[in-house]
Amino acid sequence: MSSTSSSVTTSSDIHPDIAEVIITEKEIRAKVTELAAQVRADYADTEQPVLLVAILKGAVMFMADFARELGRPLELEFMAISSYGASTSSSGVVRILKDLDREIEGKRVILVEDIIDSGLTLSWLLRNLASRNPASLDVVALFRKPEAVRVPVEVKYVGFDIPNSYVVGYGLDYAERYRELPYLGALKPEVYSD
Ligand code: 5GP
Repeated sequence: MSSTSSSVTTSSDIHPDIAEVIITEKEIRAKVTELAAQVRADYADTEQPVLLVAILKGAVMFMADFARELGRPLELEFMAISSYGASTSSSGVVRILKDLDREIEGKRVILVEDIIDSGLTLSWLLRNLASRNPASLDVVALFRKPEAVRVPVEVKYVGFDIPNSYVVGYGLDYAERYRELPYLGALKPEVYSD
């Protein structure tokens, strides 16, 4: 029996290092469309381009898809940061490796986040961006882990609340790998110990 032509991920094309698909490609696509529709409606009162700010590199896939779905004038900016401390957990102490190319004063800024875990990175970023006096500052985050609810920052748009495990795919890496996977997955434990 042959399946119909589709780009939806099936079990036969799951990467061998992935233990479990947490969110499928199809679910991600539908959610990006839904988030973009919400944001488009909320920003319908302004002709001014919104300025999407994403943090390299994890949010690149989400940024690209979200920007195309948004269907309104926008500008793109990127920052690169590194957090000090252990590689798979955030310390909240952040160093800017690449800053925004332009001023954001007076702009309607939306921070496009891949994943919120402890929320420490996000709370630092929001303080940093707010200090540059944007006209408004919202956050859209595709994935959020349970710890994040303890962080006293307002995330207006959230895609998925996910379980508390280390995930890869759709831009998220482990040692720079797996960013290209179109779904969000959990790695097999043996991959960490290699
Ligand atoms: P937080 O400061 O919220 O603890 O961490 C946020 C950042 O840590 C994210 O932007 C992402 O770069 C990284 N991160 C947190 N959880 C995960 C995860 O499960 N997988 C990957 N690949 N990165 C994560």
